[in-house]
Amino acid sequence: MLPTPAIAALREQFPLITELMALQPLSWFNPRIAPAAEGLNDVGLTAHDVAQASARLARFAPYLAKAFPQTQASGGIIESPVVPLPAMQAALGMPSGQLWLKQDSHLPISGSIKARGGIYEVLKHAEMLALDAGLLKEGDDYSVLASDAVRAFLGQYAIAVGSTGNLGLSIGIMSARLGFRATVHMSADARQWKKDKLRSHGVTVVEYATDYSVAVEAGRKQAEGDPACHFVDDENSHDLFLGYAVAGQRLKQQFEAAGVAVDADHPLFVYLPCGVGGGPGGVAFGLKLAFGDCVHCVFVEPTHSPCMLLGVHTGLHEQISVQEIGIDNVTAADGLAVGRPSGFVGRAMQRLIDGYATVTDEELYRLLATLEQTQGLCLEPSAVAGFAGIPPVLAAPQYQANLTRATHLVWGTGGSMVPQEEMAAYVARGRALLAAGAA
Ligand SMILES: *Cc1c(COP(=O)(O)O)cnc(C)c1O
Repeated sequence: MLPTPAIAALREQFPLITELMALQPLSWFNPRIAPAAEGLNDVGLTAHDVAQASARLARFAPYLAKAFPQTQASGGIIESPVVPLPAMQAALGMPSGQLWLKQDSHLPISGSIKARGGIYEVLKHAEMLALDAGLLKEGDDYSVLASDAVRAFLGQYAIAVGSTGNLGLSIGIMSARLGFRATVHMSADARQWKKDKLRSHGVTVVEYATDYSVAVEAGRKQAEGDPACHFVDDENSHDLFLGYAVAGQRLKQQFEAAGVAVDADHPLFVYLPCGVGGGPGGVAFGLKLAFGDCVHCVFVEPTHSPCMLLGVHTGLHEQISVQEIGIDNVTAADGLAVGRPSGFVGRAMQRLIDGYATVTDEELYRLLATLEQTQGLCLEPSAVAGFAGIPPVLAAPQYQANLTRATHLVWGTGGSMVPQEEMAAYVARGRALLAAGAA
């Protein structure tokens, strides 16, 4: 925690900090929001970079279809469905517009949004090593990477990452399948089943009693001592970010196929759960490239972990943590339990994110149970956070003109791999809270 006078000075300069410290759900709309054409200049990456990432994933598709048979149906492309939620929309009392869900909860291989960025970064690293060693040539069918010879070659190299759980699952499963030695440094929030699953894939799991930032630092240190080890840096990686950004063009095609209009008269609002920021930031970058000013992105964080809101609002980015203003970073939303945001993402997206909202754990459980009851869909607590961004948008004066024709897309970031008993307990918790609220 910062010294009391320093906190008092911050609260004086930024009254919102007092509200954050009270742990009440709140929203903040970004006064610096700019037209996409201007805001995209802050990113330091371009549409060309995203197109290259997309092309790389296409090259790897034959390999993925072979290594992970569950991706055969999509030709080795890791993508999730987008589905309308009419019953959930009615339950939430949304009078107009259309509510949709992006089911990253059902992405193949690792069952969360991390299957985008995490897998992309591992594939890119493997491609570079295999090309350098002459085991792969331009124009090759990448399914050659599934051979024992390539696996043995990649076994000389290591990949490490620090994670609250889902990034570790993606990096660990993908790395181990390619033959890399993989180590995942897990924070205290990480669920036991995620550690068990990784170990069953032959991944080394190092457990920490502390939070995410400490696990990342420990992982970074250990990796620095090993020249054969590639550290996946969740706080700063451009490759992770680009892997997420590929989602923008893909969503555009999905909406076109589904007949969902997104244009100046039909705005698209996208609600993204935010932890360190790489996932939602990368996806939002791709969305801004694909839809320009017609898309409005809102990040949602737990009231106990509002790190990106704190960093962007104060302009201090990674120079401030929620713990420094006395917030504990303890939340049931394990994927969002991050106290210090990515400075790279906060700065890159500082004029492209419309707003930020916070949500309590109780509300996450209620949303989770309502989604299960109305649509029969099961998401993990982190993954339903987006729904909490809707009421502030519906109430915001600047959006009123076109709200009746708006599409609201909640990015459902994870959940399909949660063990059944654990999911049943989440739903029971939410139902109990709903019943208590109705009484
Ligand atoms: C990691 C994660 C997020 C947030 O992604 P960040 O890159 O940490 O901001 C959201 N939802 C789930 C389920 C996650 O695992």
